[in-house]
Amino acid sequence: MSVGRPQPGSRACANREKIDAPANRKANIRMPVIDCHGHYTTAPKPLDEYRKRQIAALKDPAQGPTRDMLKFSDDEMRASVQSQLKFQSERGTDVTIFSPRAAGMSHHIGTAAVSLDWSQVCNDLIHRVCTLYPNNFIGVCQLPQSPGVRPDNCIGELERCVKELGFVGCNLNPDPSGGYWTDPPLTDRWWYPIYEKLVELDVPAMVHVSASANPNFHHTGAHYINGDTTAFMQFLTSDLFKDFPTLRMIIPHGGGAAPYHWGRYRGLAQDMKRPPLDELLLKNVYFDTCVYHKLGIELLLKIVPIDNILFASEMVGAVRGIDPTTSHYYDDTKRYIDAADWLSDADRHKIFEGNSRKVYRLDRVAARHPAVA
Ligand SMILES: [Zn+2]
Repeated sequence: MSVGRPQPGSRACANREKIDAPANRKANIRMPVIDCHGHYTTAPKPLDEYRKRQIAALKDPAQGPTRDMLKFSDDEMRASVQSQLKFQSERGTDVTIFSPRAAGMSHHIGTAAVSLDWSQVCNDLIHRVCTLYPNNFIGVCQLPQSPGVRPDNCIGELERCVKELGFVGCNLNPDPSGGYWTDPPLTDRWWYPIYEKLVELDVPAMVHVSASANPNFHHTGAHYINGDTTAFMQFLTSDLFKDFPTLRMIIPHGGGAAPYHWGRYRGLAQDMKRPPLDELLLKNVYFDTCVYHKLGIELLLKIVPIDNILFASEMVGAVRGIDPTTSHYYDDTKRYIDAADWLSDADRHKIFEGNSRKVYRLDRVAARHPAVA
């Protein structure tokens, strides 16, 4: 065995993941923390039943659900987010930019009409949570995408959510087929109508795939990361942001493989006679911090410009367990950033608050959500 480099699974390797007492030494200075990526994974159970009946009705319309199934009392709604609130409180985050369960979007199931009904139902529940807890949650919507259907069909629901429900963005699925990539790349004009509306409403999109229908790709372990990496490479090879200079996209899960392979992407851009990455896409593309170990977060923070990094945890979501090498939840991402004591307070503020405020234009919803006033 070679010496010097810890072997995977060894004690030395595990220790490298150890995070000592939050190194946010000046953490006594209270810094608001906005988590830009949370999903309503704890919605009341009848929502699942509604979806099951919706899917059953694809074969037998008599099985179709009714909206009466979703008449939850305020107490039921409050109960459904207690675990989310507890995590916020324990981890020291303040407000979560909150969207429907990502895997639940499953745009590959049913028709565009089914996706619209399902999106409305899910978005309305997000609105209820955000209304009950305006200091803790700010809404982002699911879109009624459907494979092979131009995303023009999403404009109405996006407008409703932003203008009527006070949402600050949407999740845009780059692959509504669920792992088969049957629609054109995100940079194709196919997508332009939704970009025009995003620009007009001045809200960003998080590029977020949904469940995988392709057994080759585990949804959160492969399909999500593939989707993030694929979107980044699509942006790199296109002039999308010349056409939409104010369009803002967040690539979640730390940007997939992009930060780790930054040299490859810089080199590819150079070989293709593309402009440098900062000029090409870093005025428009942002990365969240949903990376579930300290060294991964450090790499992200050191490679990607701080102005392009938004704090997020995706809790309660993809990975729910506790890391035995740290005894903390893998998705408690704030700890990893707190431990990066080489970050300046100004940079830390950008990651925790300033960048999200800017990208989501949160000042516009300050009246509705005092947490961001
Ligand atoms: Zn997510």
